[in-house]
Amino acid sequence: MSNTTKYIFVTGGVTSSLGKGIISASLAKLLQARGHSVTIQKLDPYINIDPGTLNPYEHGECYVTNDGAETDLDLGHYERFLNVPTSQANNVTTGRIYQSVIDKERRGEFLGKTVQIIPHITDEIKHRIQILGKSGEFDIVITEIGGTVGDIESLPYIESVRQMLWEKKDQCLVIHLTLVPYLKAAGELKTKPTQNSVKSMREVGVQPDILVCRAEHHLDESIRRKIALFCNVEPEAVIESKDANSIYEVPILMQNERLDEVVLKKLGLPDKGQPELKEWKDFLARLQHPKKKVTIGLVGKYIELKDSYKSIAESFEHSGAANECEVDIRWIHSEKLNDDNIAEKLKNLDGVLVAPGFGSRGIEGKITAVKYARESGLPFLGICLGMQCAVIEYARNVLGWENAHSTEIQKRCEKPVIDLMEEQKSITNLGGTMRLGSYACELEDGSHIAEAYGQKEINERHRHRFEFNSKYLEDFESNGMKATGKNPETGLVEVVEVENHPWFVGAQFHPEYKSTVEAPHPLFIGFVKAALKNKKEVLAN
Ligand code: GLN
Repeated sequence: MSNTTKYIFVTGGVTSSLGKGIISASLAKLLQARGHSVTIQKLDPYINIDPGTLNPYEHGECYVTNDGAETDLDLGHYERFLNVPTSQANNVTTGRIYQSVIDKERRGEFLGKTVQIIPHITDEIKHRIQILGKSGEFDIVITEIGGTVGDIESLPYIESVRQMLWEKKDQCLVIHLTLVPYLKAAGELKTKPTQNSVKSMREVGVQPDILVCRAEHHLDESIRRKIALFCNVEPEAVIESKDANSIYEVPILMQNERLDEVVLKKLGLPDKGQPELKEWKDFLARLQHPKKKVTIGLVGKYIELKDSYKSIAESFEHSGAANECEVDIRWIHSEKLNDDNIAEKLKNLDGVLVAPGFGSRGIEGKITAVKYARESGLPFLGICLGMQCAVIEYARNVLGWENAHSTEIQKRCEKPVIDLMEEQKSITNLGGTMRLGSYACELEDGSHIAEAYGQKEINERHRHRFEFNSKYLEDFESNGMKATGKNPETGLVEVVEVENHPWFVGAQFHPEYKSTVEAPHPLFIGFVKAALKNKKEVLAN
C-alpha cells in the first residue's frame, strides 16, 4: 500500500501556539473513526537531536514512546487521541536530520559531491516523512511542521513539502493553521494576518489547500468568502476553529466544520458517511458533567509552565471522567514547601502527586510533601523522582537514616537509598542515554497497584538513570515499605507501597505516558478512586 499512502502537511502561520498538534490529532481522530489507519508525525525545526536534554521550561514536557524515543509533547496528544502508539520515527528534529546527513558525508556516501541544503537536507527530510508511509501500516500520514511559516529555520521543511507536492501531487494535501484576530476597537475580525501568512507560503512555492482559522468569534459567510478569495482556497475549505473549553471537544468541532469531509474529497478518498464517535462523545459527556469532585495537589518544580506536566494533567482528565469525577489540580511549587507551611499548603487536598524531575532544586519540598501524605493518610502517587523521594523520606523518617539521599543529589552520601544504575555508570553523554522506553514489571498480589491494574504483568515506559538501591530492600520491607512491583529480569524495584496507609504508591515508571481517552490509565483511575474514598471519609468524620 506504500505507493498510495496519503500525506497531509499541517503548517502554522501568524503566531506560534495556535494548536497545530490538537488540530492534527483531531483530524487524525476523525479519519481514524472513518476506518483509515492514520499516524501523525512532528517535525521540529530546532537543532537539538531530541528534546531529551531540553529544560521543560523551553518546550514543556519531554514525552517518551514505547521504543524509548524522547519526543515533543505533541506526540502525547497524538497517542491520547488515536490510542495508537507512536515511535522514534514520529518525531524528527533539524539536529537529527543534519546529524544523519553529516554522518553519511563522513562515510563518503555522497561520492565527492558538495553537500547542500537542497537536495541533501531536503532529501533527508522527505525520507523521514516517508518512513512511516512506506512502513505499509498507515493509509494516511499527517506531518505537523513545528514553528511558524516565515521562520528561517522552517524553510527547508516547507521546501521539502513543496517538493513532495510536486512529486506526489494527488497524494498530498496542505492544511495551514492561522489566526483571525478580533479587534475590539473596530468590532471586527481581521483577515489580513491570514492573507499575509498564506502569501508567505506562496512565496516559498506552497499553496495551502485548507485553512484552519483560529478565532475567538464566529467566522460568518462573508469573512469566509473573503479569506477564500484572497487566499486561493474554496470557501468550504475555510474552517473555523473557535476556542474550546477542552482539547477533547476539538474533534467534534472539526467534524461540525466538515474538515474531514473536505480532506477526503481533496485526497480523492471515498466518503462513507459520518463516523459515530460514540466512545469519544461518551467520554466528553462524562468529562463535562462530572458528578463529584476531588482536589489533587501536584507537587513539582516546573509548575510555572504547566505544559511541563502535560501528560499527568491529561491523565487526570481521562481517569477523572472514568470515575465521573472532576479532578481539580492544585499546582504546588516544591521549592516553596517546608515543615512549617506544609499543613497549610496541602490543606483540603484529597490526594497528592509528587512529580518526576531531575536535580536538586525543590527536592526537599517534595520530600516534605511525601512525609505529610504518608503521615496524614492522604492518598499518594509518586512518579519517578516522586517515587525516589518517597524512598528517601521513608529512610530518613521511618528507618531513622537521617543521611539517606539519592546519589543524583548527594554524590557521596552515607545511605544512598537511590543510586545510579549499574549500566549508567560508564555513560558520559547525556542525550538519549537514560533507561528509556517500555519495560516489563511484575506486580505483587494483593497490592494497591495490582488491584488498580487488575493484572500482574504490566509494561510501562521509563526515563531515569537512578534506581532503588536493592542493598537496602530488606530494611525497607521489614519496616513497612514494600516493593510491590519489580522488573522480572533484573529485579529492579519499580514500585513501592507503604503498608497501613489507605493508598500510597510510588512508581519508578511513568504511567502518564500511556493514558488515552479510550484507555484511561488504571493507576490514575485507582488513585482518583482512592482520593474520592478519602474525601468521603473526611466528610463523614
Ligand atoms: N532524576 C531521576 C533519575 O534520573 C528521576 C527521573 C524522572 O523523574 N524522570 O532517575
